[in-house]
Amino acid sequence: MTIPNVTPRGFGVPGLPAAAPGTTAVTAVTPMKPASPSDPPADPPGASALPQLQPPGFSPESARQDIPILHRTVNGHPLVWLDNGATTQKPRQVIEALGAYYGAANSNIHRGAHTMAREATQMFEAGRSAVAEFLGARSPDDIVFVRGTTEAINLVAQSWGRDNLGPGDDILVAALEHHSDIVPWQLIAEETRARVVPIPLTADGAIDQGAYADLLSSRTQLVAVSHASNVLGTVPPVKEMTALAHRYGAKVLVDGAQAVAHFPVDVRDLDADFYAFSGHKLFAPTGIGALYAKPEILQAMRPWQGGGNMIDSVDFTRTTFAPVPHRLEAGTGHIAGVVGLLAALNWFTSFDREAVAAYESTLMTYAQQALAAVPGLEVIGSAPERIAVLTFTLAGHDPGEVADWLDRDGIAIRAGHHCAQPALAHYGLESAARASLALYNTSEEVDQLVASLRRLQEAPRAAG
Ligand code: PMP
Repeated sequence: MTIPNVTPRGFGVPGLPAAAPGTTAVTAVTPMKPASPSDPPADPPGASALPQLQPPGFSPESARQDIPILHRTVNGHPLVWLDNGATTQKPRQVIEALGAYYGAANSNIHRGAHTMAREATQMFEAGRSAVAEFLGARSPDDIVFVRGTTEAINLVAQSWGRDNLGPGDDILVAALEHHSDIVPWQLIAEETRARVVPIPLTADGAIDQGAYADLLSSRTQLVAVSHASNVLGTVPPVKEMTALAHRYGAKVLVDGAQAVAHFPVDVRDLDADFYAFSGHKLFAPTGIGALYAKPEILQAMRPWQGGGNMIDSVDFTRTTFAPVPHRLEAGTGHIAGVVGLLAALNWFTSFDREAVAAYESTLMTYAQQALAAVPGLEVIGSAPERIAVLTFTLAGHDPGEVADWLDRDGIAIRAGHHCAQPALAHYGLESAARASLALYNTSEEVDQLVASLRRLQEAPRAAG
């Protein structure tokens, strides 16, 4: 199976905006340079001693050149986008696909008996095939379109959970999970009188595999685990954890929200029963994501929402439902979102994925070493397998204050609980700052982050 070359640009309607949009509008909202605490970005002391990045087979410039927003300024400084864990920036291929779709191809799908309905349906289903290929699924029929990871997990909890959970059953949830992989389980557990049991973490932020093995039992119906943690960066041994869960007859749901943009995923190799991700963390628009489920599990799943598109026939005495995946997609879906996701997948998979992962890993090592030079900075989470997420505290400064300071230098990071309060609580924290990297970030941007943080540490003394 290859990703079908069905892109909205193929519709080739004259008069559509061809230039990458955003530049003018973005310049207009860029404020004048404020009285900023910053001097021009300087190399952090000792930077020359850091290992040089030698990306094997991948250059971040090849990605950067496609992403208009990375060329804007914020507060008078070139934007340094280090908030990729929250959302990724979009290549012009995605932006143009959305414009082209609405400008030339907008139609509802499936139900219309006209050319444009057929074209829109074709693009929508091409998106499904592309997602199936991207995840290594057997068939596009194993892919359900949803709004994002949150909706995918709620779908599984409400549809699969309601039929498969009961009093005394255990749902094992890793303690590093995002709230969207905790709360849906709590809600369905309350309804079915099952139990949500946290799988503890080790001191370095890995999942305690000994404790996990001990928690598994014939009561375990489901294990919920992230393929990469959004706050600790931890990449748990999901394949091994899945194999162990299956020995007890439990199903495994993998939250892939933070994984898909960082390393290749193969759901069949993992043997995952469910795999969820959000398009917006994968260079695609917000409001679109996908759930993979093993075909035999999906076949047995009952509707969780009712409406159009998901039925076979409706009668006041008896309604019958469409086959999966449509049975689980009530109402008009985010068609443009799927078009954007297809464009994003085409863009992202045009890079050598292994080379991208290797580049990010080198950049991560560089960032870790560079941040170690900032006095009072402590990185949270040090599991051996991690994606390029650096969550940290800075002595003497509240994380919100750190984010504000960096923002004045045009550097976007996130501060707060990152929707993973139990993971932070593991370190005795309620809040932390997080820099999360993507393939288009560079060592120069890491240097700017480090230089700005050093200035923050020096600022009180300078002021006093
Ligand atoms: N899981 C993880 C690991 C995440 O990082 C996120 C987003 N921060 C989510 C789930 C939820 O994703 P969304 O808000 O796109 O549904």
